[in-house]
Amino acid sequence: MVYKDEQEDDSNDELTMNSKVLRLNKAGTPIAWLSWQETATLLVKEQVIWSIGATIHTVRGGYNKSGIRSSLELPSIIACDGKVDNHQFTPALSNGLLFARDQMMCMYCGVEFPARDLSRDHVIPTSKGGKDLWTNCVTACRRCNNRKGDLTPEQANMQLLAVPFAPNRHEYFYLSNRDVLADQMEFLKARFSVNASAFASDAEPRLTRTGQRRRT
Ligand SMILES: [Zn+2]
Repeated sequence: MVYKDEQEDDSNDELTMNSKVLRLNKAGTPIAWLSWQETATLLVKEQVIWSIGATIHTVRGGYNKSGIRSSLELPSIIACDGKVDNHQFTPALSNGLLFARDQMMCMYCGVEFPARDLSRDHVIPTSKGGKDLWTNCVTACRRCNNRKGDLTPEQANMQLLAVPFAPNRHEYFYLSNRDVLADQMEFLKARFSVNASAFASDAEPRLTRTGQRRRT
């Protein structure tokens, strides 16, 4: 199958074009979010050993000599062969993921803010030996962060609304994609920890005309 210049969007739906495919290893562990192009390449190269979930996109290819047009259905979750890494997984701490973990909410005043008004607060300040780790960092609005300053929550008399935690692998994949589809959500959610109860309850996908997505 050759796609080259003959690719086109069969569904005419920009939403499905932007949806990511969840790549697993052969043990069923999430490895990456893929674009539909990357997924199509793996399928064409026959590197996908199994797939689950709904078809999120159909790619139409060229016509063969018999005039039959090739097509490729892209599933929402694929598994590929390869090395299985069983190491403990802790995602790198970034503000984007940290804010997502805390649902864009200041963990002191409980108000939601856009990302530009949020900051990373070290629960135990770094000046007092606090580490720059998931378990010592929370999302704080600039006002609360300034007010807390170089103090611990106890010293500042500011109570934390939730205990900070490091996302596990399944939580990380959920947090790192703003557009998780329903069947992907179902797959990931099965391995969420109790820590994730806050965002898991918010993670019920909404059904829309074009499919099943978490946010509209
Ligand atoms: Zn605040």
